[in-house]
Amino acid sequence: MKKAFQFRIYPNKNQEVILSRTLSTCRHLYNDSLSERKKQAELNKLKKEFDVFPWGKPEWVNKYDQMLDLTATKTSYQKEVFSQVLQDVIKRVDKSFKNFFNGFGYPRFQGRNRYNSFTYPQMGFSIEDGKLNLSKIGNIKIILHREIEGKIKTCTIKKDIDQWYVSLSCEIETPIIPAEIKTETGIDVGLSSLITMSNGEQIESPEFLRESEDKLTHEQKRLSRKKKGSGKRNKQKIIVAIVHRKIRNQRKDFAHKTSRKLLDTYDRIVFEDLQIKNMMQNHHLAKSISDAGWNQLMILTKSKAECAGKVVELVNARNTSQNCSGCGNSVPKKLSERVHSCPFCGLEMDRDHNAAINILKRAISTVGTTGINDRQGLSIESRCSGTPKPFRVG
Ligand SMILES: [Zn+2]
Repeated sequence: MKKAFQFRIYPNKNQEVILSRTLSTCRHLYNDSLSERKKQAELNKLKKEFDVFPWGKPEWVNKYDQMLDLTATKTSYQKEVFSQVLQDVIKRVDKSFKNFFNGFGYPRFQGRNRYNSFTYPQMGFSIEDGKLNLSKIGNIKIILHREIEGKIKTCTIKKDIDQWYVSLSCEIETPIIPAEIKTETGIDVGLSSLITMSNGEQIESPEFLRESEDKLTHEQKRLSRKKKGSGKRNKQKIIVAIVHRKIRNQRKDFAHKTSRKLLDTYDRIVFEDLQIKNMMQNHHLAKSISDAGWNQLMILTKSKAECAGKVVELVNARNTSQNCSGCGNSVPKKLSERVHSCPFCGLEMDRDHNAAINILKRAISTVGTTGINDRQGLSIESRCSGTPKPFRVG
């Protein structure tokens, strides 16, 4: 697990001059490396346009080329900076291009106010006796207001207008202690609400997501009406991208909150192992799956459970909605039938609630004898609670 620790550092006048000069050297290197790569990209574009080298592939300058160049042609300013710090600058340029290819903005030249940090990616730094020792810079006063945990991996120096900070990225190895399973739940993915738990509680997929989706549809329609290549179209593209980003963040946020809430409440969580693709064939269901980020929720719950020593299990979803959770008999029903009503034992409850109980039962029946003995005294809560209750998230 990675964790960042930030501390303020207090350089003296002389050190501040060196820090500023280092920042400036890094910024120039950044802009020069970026410029080289941009020129190469433009050249490739021209070659393609005029078919100059129809037999050749486009040539690209990569980060290794640029690092080699750097070593061979260091300026006197660059010689004053720790070499890995300079190499990290080239990696940043490389990353900005990779981000661009992944749909982010085109890499920009960095002005004096924008470029505000440099990084020791491996070595060249240490902390001793209230001092941060930086290679080629000196021992700077640091106040450690909290204990640093784990092993320090990288050290980044940041300038914030008139103050300086160090950010240490640490790798923490935390021993995972398996939690004692005292509470457990089965979870069904339903049509009308996001999920239904085996105690009958439900988590609704959030209204704000649907609103954002409507907005996205609206803005995309507007985009399709704009003339290609026009400035207005480019502006509209940005608007669409911003709405996209908002939805992405809202989904992630909701999945985080829901998974945290589930793990705060339960030690063992059983999901049905559904092939999302199969479900996507149903239009309504597809919408609620995408709304809720069902897959994202499961992944997040699983990874959080691992850290907490808790258990997330997947069980076969076959017939979980058709079978009666009371007597086990098969009670066939169509997708539109929302209530499970058993002619054999008389059990009547919400369809998804019945399924959630079956899901939990299925996990219980698949564990070994010790597992079953372990959970003596555990009962599936409020089996016949009638109408499902909402489960608050947030
Ligand atoms: Zn029954």
